[in-house]
Amino acid sequence: MASRVTFIGAGNMAGAIIGGMIDSGFAPDAITATSPSDEMLAPLRDRLGIRTETDNDAAVEQADVVVLAVKPQIMREVCEKMRSAIQARRPLIISVAAGLPAETLEHWLGGELAVVRCMPNTPSLVGAGASGLYANTRVEASQRELATELMEAVGLVEWVDDEALLEAVTAVSGSAPAYFFLMFEAMEEAGASLGLSADTARRLAMQTAYGAAKMAMQSDKTPAELKRNVMSPGGTTERAIEHLEGAGLRRIVQDAMNACAHRASEMA
Ligand code: NAP
Repeated sequence: MASRVTFIGAGNMAGAIIGGMIDSGFAPDAITATSPSDEMLAPLRDRLGIRTETDNDAAVEQADVVVLAVKPQIMREVCEKMRSAIQARRPLIISVAAGLPAETLEHWLGGELAVVRCMPNTPSLVGAGASGLYANTRVEASQRELATELMEAVGLVEWVDDEALLEAVTAVSGSAPAYFFLMFEAMEEAGASLGLSADTARRLAMQTAYGAAKMAMQSDKTPAELKRNVMSPGGTTERAIEHLEGAGLRRIVQDAMNACAHRASEMA
């Protein structure tokens, strides 16, 4: 791939994507990362061999893709400052910032730009992320492919054709790692109350979640079928599932995800 990619912001998310890109064969010298201080940049430059720059305008001069990876609170200021440089080059813009609509970003950067908005999640930091992507109408097919390639470097990519659906993506994957962390907490506490050490219960719960996800991803059966397969009538699993269903787990999950998506819409 010959495209030059510039990351504005060299923090956790940018570092994860850059690492994934290099692992998947992207040439380090085609990647530039920026930050106001060289302190953040030195490890990326030394460890990964990418280019670094403290001047955002200089970094976008040659870029085919500009990934916006600064915190949402400072995004407007950062975008407006580099508006002229962006307009001179008109690269594909990919934003990983939570809650900022594509149209707003396009406006801050001077308008008429191809913008992909991405909702990643924190497991991207360990190469096992899940991202929802939306492209505005100016994004060409080849740019869509490039955005897919970049975000696939840190995990699964799913496109949505309506930007508002990124709120649903936030509920299903963006905020969802915490749902599973909560489940681990609850299982650890319950396992400890049954006599296991908390550490043992935690390790068993996490490995089981990992194994269940792996099994479900590799299987052509639905989760409902997989669940039925491990529930023998009158057995232990059936008893646990009856409790979870009886206590309204599905309604709780639905309510929580509705609340999450609603909050995402308030923040957009
Ligand atoms: P982060 O670790 O704080 O990284 C942000 C980086 O931007 C820092 O290196 C910061 O440098 C740099 N920066 C500040 N001002 C800048 C400027 N004017 N020009 C260029 N760089 C500048 O944040 P993050 O967790 O990677 O998050 C980045 C974006 O990803 C956010 O918009 C967030 O919503 C999104 N996101 C992150 C996650 C996640 O798992 N981390 C998940 C979903 C979405 P200094 O430290 O020197 O200020």
